[in-house]
Amino acid sequence: MAGKLSSVNSLTNRILIFFIFLLILISSLLLTTTLRTIYQHSIDQLRGHFKTSQKVLMNSLENDALTLARSVKLLSKDFSTKALIASGREDPASLRAALGNHRDRAKATFVMVYTNDGKPVVSTEEYQLEWVELESWKDNGVRFASAENRLFLVKSSPVFFVEGKADPDAWLVMGTDMTLLITDKLTELTGFDVIVSVGEQPIITTGPEEFLSSVSRDTIIARSDNESVFDFTFEKEGWLGYRFPVGWDDKTITSTFVIANHRALLNYQNLVAKLLFAIALLVGISFVFSVFISHGITRRLWFLVDVANKIKRGDYENNIPLSGTIEVRSLAEALESMQDGIRKREEEINKLAFYDELTGLPNRPRFIAIVRQRILERSGQSFTVMLLDIDRFKEVNDTLGHDLGDKLIQLIAKRLQSLGSGKFTHAHIGGDEFAILVPQEDEFDTEIVIDQLIALFQTPFNLDGIHLDVSASFGVASYPKDAQDTIGIMQCADIALYTCKGTHKPFAYYESHRNVHSRMRLSLLSELRKAILENQFELYYQPKLDIATGQVVSVESLVRWNHPEHGLIPPDEFIQLAEQSGAISDLTHWIIKVALKQHKNWVEKGIELSISVNVSPIDLTELKLHVYIESLLSEFRISPDMLVLEVTENAVMSEPEQALKALDLLQRMGVKLSVDDFGTGYSSMGQLKDMPVSELKIDKSFVLELANNEDDETIVKSTVDLAHNLGLTVVAEGVENQESLDVLAKYEVELAQGYYISKPLPAERFEQWLLASKYWGQADSHRSISSQ
Ligand code: C2E
Ligand code: CA
Ligand code: CA
Repeated sequence: MAGKLSSVNSLTNRILIFFIFLLILISSLLLTTTLRTIYQHSIDQLRGHFKTSQKVLMNSLENDALTLARSVKLLSKDFSTKALIASGREDPASLRAALGNHRDRAKATFVMVYTNDGKPVVSTEEYQLEWVELESWKDNGVRFASAENRLFLVKSSPVFFVEGKADPDAWLVMGTDMTLLITDKLTELTGFDVIVSVGEQPIITTGPEEFLSSVSRDTIIARSDNESVFDFTFEKEGWLGYRFPVGWDDKTITSTFVIANHRALLNYQNLVAKLLFAIALLVGISFVFSVFISHGITRRLWFLVDVANKIKRGDYENNIPLSGTIEVRSLAEALESMQDGIRKREEEINKLAFYDELTGLPNRPRFIAIVRQRILERSGQSFTVMLLDIDRFKEVNDTLGHDLGDKLIQLIAKRLQSLGSGKFTHAHIGGDEFAILVPQEDEFDTEIVIDQLIALFQTPFNLDGIHLDVSASFGVASYPKDAQDTIGIMQCADIALYTCKGTHKPFAYYESHRNVHSRMRLSLLSELRKAILENQFELYYQPKLDIATGQVVSVESLVRWNHPEHGLIPPDEFIQLAEQSGAISDLTHWIIKVALKQHKNWVEKGIELSISVNVSPIDLTELKLHVYIESLLSEFRISPDMLVLEVTENAVMSEPEQALKALDLLQRMGVKLSVDDFGTGYSSMGQLKDMPVSELKIDKSFVLELANNEDDETIVKSTVDLAHNLGLTVVAEGVENQESLDVLAKYEVELAQGYYISKPLPAERFEQWLLASKYWGQADSHRSISSQ
């Protein structure tokens, strides 16, 4: 979560940032308006205070002026003083001394005497007052006078030598230096420092001396107007000032109250601090609150994200609570319906991918998955896999049509499902193949299950009124006895099934000795058809020698598989596979075509040999073989009697009717037929009589040891006798030495074939061998090669 939150893109952070931004905006707006109002209010209050203080100052000055006036009036009435003034011109020293006493008693700064017309007579001090306008002194107001850069509060009083006169004889003027009046006491009383200015020059202050020099007159004069508060800077600090007139002499005398901001606006600043604290608190609370809210929203969102991720991983069983805000809830609803949709669709896809449409049973991948899962989950707990293949299903399809074929599969599926009381897994794993997983618990004895399976096929199947007998082959493999992994157990069951097909028994257990090369066999099986298309097969040729003439007169074609990985594969390893897989007929067609082409090629080179091709029993069940051969013979312009088809006696025995019919058609065409591997099967001589064949090949097992084995010699002799009686040519295969050849010659066997003469060779090498050998084109071609 911490990582998720760090991004600016996270919803939580956006909400937070937005909240904080909003808070800052609102609080700064609030703060500025509040502050402005409060400031204004504080200034108004201050102004009020200034005005009150102005009155205090003025009262104090008037009081001083009154005291001064009383003193000077008292002095002017004093008889001895009057006498001294009257004689003042003659004795100024006495007058000055007397006036000095009075000055001290009145706590004034000076006393002066002027003539009636304003000329100075005597002064207690050295200096004279400038600009004394006597007329203006006649009232009782507060008056100022300045001298030597000092300011004085002055009062005058007329002196009458004789009472009742109209004009005074002289004037007494008493003054007090303003510095004595503007004192710290005033500051204490008002709370302000006072600066007194004469005109534009500040000259007295209760504050520090620097006020007079640093607080320039510009500061005060320029900024102040009547009754208004102004601010200025002194020693880097903000100050507030208020200036008002206190009187005049020749210039305006003003007084200015000043106070440092921090003292003046103490309440204001307190208030600001409190306000800031409150706002900070508000921001903090809102922050916590918004974190809480946004987490509340995002917690649900993250939960939904988790759900979406689970859906991505294929988990569709999530419980999605439909709570929260409308938006979150509708998202949750959308997610839930999406989950439902995906689940349903997946189920459908699953069904399509893992279930067979025809039967509704699991298909091969699904069955394999089930087996795998069982091994994974209950390793060691035994079970059996039974593979089932319908015998001759292809015929049903071919004769009754695919619809009924499908129907048959459905009926079989239904019957199979009746087994196992729900504990078996049934699957339809291919065209006519089924698989059953039988858990090996006591109640399911394998043999009993097999009996039940066989019994299922004993009643005919009703296909739209047609009652069809159907048989099946079963291959049985057990886990863990036969194999310990899924593929292994499936292969074992497969092999057992193939084995079963070969035995004509209804079922076969997997037997380990059959597993030799089984994996390779299975892979070859799947590659066969591709190999035909890619020309991986090649024909080798082995000569048949006419024993009487010592000349090669015929050749047998034997197929080889040049496998890109496994190299040259002998036919014993794949012919049976080709037969089982049904690829044999394609392969036989290919072989016949190549062999006939080769024959034609040799004839063109003057090598005229009849050519033998081995035909599998299954080829004989294919009714169109003769049509194919006929078209090739005419295409290559080959006489039918140059082609010999070798058929094992067993081929005829297993499906006698059909085989005989096929052989008959071929024989009528003029193609020669040969009974291969004679002596190994069960055919009787009587049956041989009915067969349209012209050649009999004594199996090599009787020939290989012929020279040393009397039993073999007896068999060979009797067989040759019989064949000759039936008018058949005899071929002995497996001739590996001269001695055997001699025995064969003795019994007048017509043809010999074997390694002694030549091993099977590829076409080109066969040709080279033949042309170079003594068995070809010799003058005494009718010389017997027997050593007799
Ligand atoms: P087969 O038809 O009986 O062919 C004779 C087999 O004996 C050949 O084995 C041949 O190489 C071998 N042979 C010949 N002379 C001697 C000898 O002196 N000593 C020994 N030990 N063996 C000898 P190959 O070619 O491996 O064929 C094996 C079998 O595969 C054939 O038996 C035949 O049944 C089948 N086959 C071969 N080619 C074809 C074919 O083109 N089509 C069909 N359907 N089956 C074929
Ligand atoms: Ca043969
Ligand atoms: Ca043979």
